[in-house]
Amino acid sequence: MGGPWPVVVQTMWKDPLPKGLLAQDPRMDDILSHIETLKALGCDIVRFAVPDEVSARSLGELSKASPMPVVADIHFDWRLALLCLDFPIAKIRINPGNIGERWKVEEIVHKAKDKGVPIRIGVNAGSLPTDLRDSIKQGHINEVEAAVVAAEREIAVLEDLSFSNIVVSIKLNEPNKVVEANRLFASKYSYPLHLGVTEAGPLISGVVRNTAALVSLLKDGIGSTIRVSLSAPMESEVIAAREILACVDENSARARIVSCPRCGRASFDTHAFLARWQDRLYSIEKPISIAVMGCVVNGPGEARSADLGVTGAGNSVLIFRHGEIIRRAALEDADKVFAEALEGILTE
Ligand code: SF4
Repeated sequence: MGGPWPVVVQTMWKDPLPKGLLAQDPRMDDILSHIETLKALGCDIVRFAVPDEVSARSLGELSKASPMPVVADIHFDWRLALLCLDFPIAKIRINPGNIGERWKVEEIVHKAKDKGVPIRIGVNAGSLPTDLRDSIKQGHINEVEAAVVAAEREIAVLEDLSFSNIVVSIKLNEPNKVVEANRLFASKYSYPLHLGVTEAGPLISGVVRNTAALVSLLKDGIGSTIRVSLSAPMESEVIAAREILACVDENSARARIVSCPRCGRASFDTHAFLARWQDRLYSIEKPISIAVMGCVVNGPGEARSADLGVTGAGNSVLIFRHGEIIRRAALEDADKVFAEALEGILTE
């Protein structure tokens, strides 16, 4: 992560890890299967909250089997950080300022260094140190500057212990402030930045707010990893992050979906079709475009650049490639004929 490497997508597990998770455990199979789905959609890293020792031990078992790098997210308790570092985790998120006495931080840092595990420092506007909050109230400093100072303090603790395997996140609630804070930080430091808008909201507002902030930063070359935090499923976070990356770099190696909003002319329910097909289509690791259109009035024509498309046509659906109709079928057979055409294009 960082430097010349591509920007990586991450999400955070939305539920507590089950207690007493073991390798041979149906609950482990369910979690691994879900992680595989996220991976297929384009997720690169998954972070887990570790609020107690039971969670840490379950994360330890999971980290041994996970097909995706696993990150431990720890607040306050240095013993949990030390315990997680016994497992093959890819990164640990702590804030030295939350850990307390210096010797506790030192123990974590020494162990992270021994294990080669990076530490992510995460600054959130909602949990700035008291003195910085007071300075904001008194007008001595603004929220953006305070967030950067908070990150600088955490970095100073780690650098003082000769630790530089650091990732930094500075998350605020307003997109413009996220942009300002990360630009300010990037002008001073070369540490990899994890980008995101904190408490961005439910699906629609969260995607819009994250897009507003992250596209600007990524276009400036700022950001090594992103998470679109949403009050919505992890799959939505991953797909939103992918679409944001595609806004910045159109040469995606993965499939893109084009679809019409549907209107009174539609004879084919594009919404329902996409609900059934979305995860499958976003899992395609081939740079193809796929169109899902409601009617022939605009369907194949408007989507003529698509490598594969499906559109309603009265009581039928048409399958088309680059605007050329290659197959017609009854509406009820839409999924079947589309699946066959997709298989054909994927095996070419
Ligand atoms: S493709 Fe047809 S159904 Fe879809 S929005 Fe356009 S006119 Fe309406």
